[in-house]
Amino acid sequence: MANQKLAVSTLGFPRIGRRRELKFALESYWAGKSSQAELLDVAAAIRKANWVDQLDRGVTNIPSNDFSLYDHVLDTAVMVGAVPDAYGWTGGEVSLDTYFAMARGSADGGACGCGGHGSATALEMTKWFDTNYHYMVPEFGKDQEFKLASRKPIDEFLEAKELGIHTRPVLVGPATFLKLGKIRDGGGDPIDLLPRLVPVYAELLRGLKAAGADWVQIDEPILVTDLNEAEREAIAAAYRQLATASVPKIMLATYFAALGDNLDLVASLPIAGLHVDLVRAPEQLDAVAATVRKNLVLSLGVIDGRNIWRADLDVILDRVAALRADRGADGIEIAPSCSLIHVPLDLAAEPELDTEIVSWLSFAIQKIEELDTLAIALVDGRAKVDDALKAARAIRRGRAKSLKVNDASVQTRIESLDASMSKRESRFADRRSAQDRKLDLPQFPTTTIGSFPQTPEVRRARAAHGRGELSLSDYETLLRQETEAAIRWQEEIGLDVLVHGEFERNDMVQYFGERLSGFAFTKNAWVQSYGSRYVRPPIIFGDVARPEQMTVGWWQFAQSLTDKPVKGMLTGPVTILNWSFVRDDLARSQVCRQIALAIRDEVIDLERAGAAMIQIDEAALREGLPLRQSEWRAYLDWAVECFRLTAAGVADGTQIHTHMCYSEFNDIIEAIAAMDADVISIETSRSKMELLDAFRDYSYPAGIGPGVYDIHSPRVPEIGEMTALIDLAKRRLDAGQLWINPDCGLKTRKWDEVRPALVNMVAAARQLRARKDASRAA
Ligand code: GLN
Ligand code: ZN
Repeated sequence: MANQKLAVSTLGFPRIGRRRELKFALESYWAGKSSQAELLDVAAAIRKANWVDQLDRGVTNIPSNDFSLYDHVLDTAVMVGAVPDAYGWTGGEVSLDTYFAMARGSADGGACGCGGHGSATALEMTKWFDTNYHYMVPEFGKDQEFKLASRKPIDEFLEAKELGIHTRPVLVGPATFLKLGKIRDGGGDPIDLLPRLVPVYAELLRGLKAAGADWVQIDEPILVTDLNEAEREAIAAAYRQLATASVPKIMLATYFAALGDNLDLVASLPIAGLHVDLVRAPEQLDAVAATVRKNLVLSLGVIDGRNIWRADLDVILDRVAALRADRGADGIEIAPSCSLIHVPLDLAAEPELDTEIVSWLSFAIQKIEELDTLAIALVDGRAKVDDALKAARAIRRGRAKSLKVNDASVQTRIESLDASMSKRESRFADRRSAQDRKLDLPQFPTTTIGSFPQTPEVRRARAAHGRGELSLSDYETLLRQETEAAIRWQEEIGLDVLVHGEFERNDMVQYFGERLSGFAFTKNAWVQSYGSRYVRPPIIFGDVARPEQMTVGWWQFAQSLTDKPVKGMLTGPVTILNWSFVRDDLARSQVCRQIALAIRDEVIDLERAGAAMIQIDEAALREGLPLRQSEWRAYLDWAVECFRLTAAGVADGTQIHTHMCYSEFNDIIEAIAAMDADVISIETSRSKMELLDAFRDYSYPAGIGPGVYDIHSPRVPEIGEMTALIDLAKRRLDAGQLWINPDCGLKTRKWDEVRPALVNMVAAARQLRARKDASRAA
C-alpha cells in the first residue's frame, strides 16, 4: 500500500481575511452602512477561503468554528446562553445585535429611561493567557443556568460539508471557558458551575456527531496553568460525563506551556487525542509519551503558532522520530503549537519587505507548508523532501551569519555589561533630596502620562507624510505647532510637570522600533488584538542598536518653550519586547538587554540635553509574566534588571518616572519596588485606589501617581471626585509621596474632554494643598 503522509492539523486559522475584509465589514455594519446579510456573506467568504487554503496545502484536520465575528470566548458565552440580564435577552437564538452589545456596549440606550433594556456597557476585556489577543470576559450570575442558545459550531461544520470539506470543529473547553469568566457580585469560583455547563456541551457534541463530525477539538489551555485539587477533580468529572459513545472523539488541545503537574489528570481523561505544545515546552514530550495511553492520538505542536520564524525542520524531525516509530503514523499528528490566529496570514502580502528577512519568516500559510514537508518526511523519509530540507538549512545558516542580524559592537557591549550599570548612584532617600533641591515642586505635583489627543488632523498629516504627499518639513511644522499649543495650554491651566504630547508618535512601540536597528515593520501583516482591532507587531530580527537620537529633539523643542520641567518620554525595553515578534535565536532576556542599552543611551542623552525628569513607560511589564507562578521569578528578575539598566545611567538629581497601566500589583510589588524608579504612575481610578494597598503593605518608599481619572471614558470628572480619590490614596500612603495625574495617556481622547478634565484635576490638587493636613507631611 502506498504510504500516506502523516496527519496535519491546524487548531485554528487567522480569521480576519486576506485584506482585513472582516474589519471593514464589521465597521460598515456597525455604522449602519450595510446589512446583516452583507456582513454574514463576508464572513462566509473568509471561512471558505480559509478552508480552501488549508485543503490546498494538505492540511488533514481542517478546523471549523475557529472563525468568529468578534471573539471565540464571546461566541462560547452566547452558545451556552451566558448572556447577562443587562442585554435583555429573553431566550431563543441570541441575535447579532445582542452579541455585539456584549462586545461593545449598546449606545442606543436610555431613550425610554427604564434602564431595563437598550443601554448596557460591554463585557470586560482581558488578555487571552499570555498572548496579545484579548477576549471578552464571560459574566455569570450566582444561579447561572446554561442552555444551548446557538448552533454556530454545527452550522459551520455543515457549511464546510456543503463545500465538500470535512472539518474538525473547535470549541473552547468548558473548564477554560468558566475559568476565564467571573461570577457577578463576588459570587465565588466559576468552575463550580461546571456540572451545570457540561450537559449543554454534551447536547452540542451530540448535535455535531449527528451532523457527521467524527472528531472535535476541545481547547483547554487552562490545563497548562496552576490548578488546585478541587479544580482538577471538577475537570475530571466533567470529561467523564462528556466523553460518551454518542459524541465525536475528543482531541483535547493544550498549549502555551507544559502540562506539568496537570499531566496525570489529562492522562486520566477519557479522551481520544491530546495536543501538546512542543515549542514552548519541548521537554515535556518524553513525560507525555510515557504517561498517556498507547491508543491515544498525540498531536504534536511542533511549529510555533506564536511567532513568525521558519522552523528548524531537522530538529523537529529528530525530536519526534522515536515517537513516530513507537506509536506508528496513525498514532500521531503534527500541528502548530497553538491556533494560528496569533500570526499574520501570508508572507506573500509583504512584497516590500527586505527579501533576505522575508526568507527567514513563516506566516500561517507558510507554516502549513512547513507542516506538509514534515508530514511527508515522517512517513516517506527525509529523502523524499530532501530539497525542501536543504533549502531550509541553507536559510537558517544564512540567517545565523547575516550581517543584518549580527552587530559586533552590540554583542561586545552586552558582554561587557556589569552589575553596577543597573544601579543608581545612591539609594532613593538620597536621590529624593537631590531632586527636591533641584526641582522645587509643590506638594501634590500635577502631571500627565505623556500623550495628548491625536487629532484627526495629526493622523491625516502623518498618513499623508507616509504616502509621500506631505513633505517632512510641512509635517514637522504641524507637529511643532501642536506641541507648542500643548505646552502653552499646560502652562495656562497650571500643571506643574509638563509633557510634549507625543504628537510625532504613531504608537509607543512602533515609534522607537522604527528608529532602532534590528527591527522590521510590515505593511499587511495584521494580527487580531481584539474584535475589529488588528495590530502589526514589529519584528525584532537582529541585534538592536540606536543609530541616532530618537526623542531628544522633540524634548528640546518643548522645553525651550517653558520654564516648567518637561518630562522626557520613552518606552521601556520590556514593553517594546512584549509587544513585538521577537527573534528566536537569542534568549528573550538577551534581546531585552540589547533594547535596554539602546534606550539607556537615549536616557543619558536626554539628561545631557537638560532633562530633569525622564519617564520610561513599562505598560506591558506585567503582561509578560509566565503562566506558571513558579516561573515568575526568573522573568521578573531579568525584566526588572533591564528596566534598571535603562534608567540607571543618570545622576541622582535626575528623576526617573515610570508608568504602568492597569495591573494587579499585589503579587509583583517587590519587583515594582526593585525597579527603583523615583516616581511611578499607575491606573487606579476604577479600582477606587484599592490597588494602592499593595504599595502601603510593602511600605513602598518612592513617589506614586495613582490615576485620579479614568481616561477610557469620555466623562469629565468633577473636582470633588478627584479630591475624594486622593483622600482615599492618602489613607494608604504618605501625602508627600503623592503625585496627581490621570490613569494613562490621553491620545485616544478628544481635547473637549481632556481640557475640562485637566482643569478640574489641577483644581483638585490646589484644594488639597490649601488644606492644613496636606502641609504637615510635606
Ligand atoms: N506615555 C504613553 C502615553 O501617554 C503611555 C501609554 C501607555 O502606558 N499605554 O500615551
Ligand atoms: Zn497606561
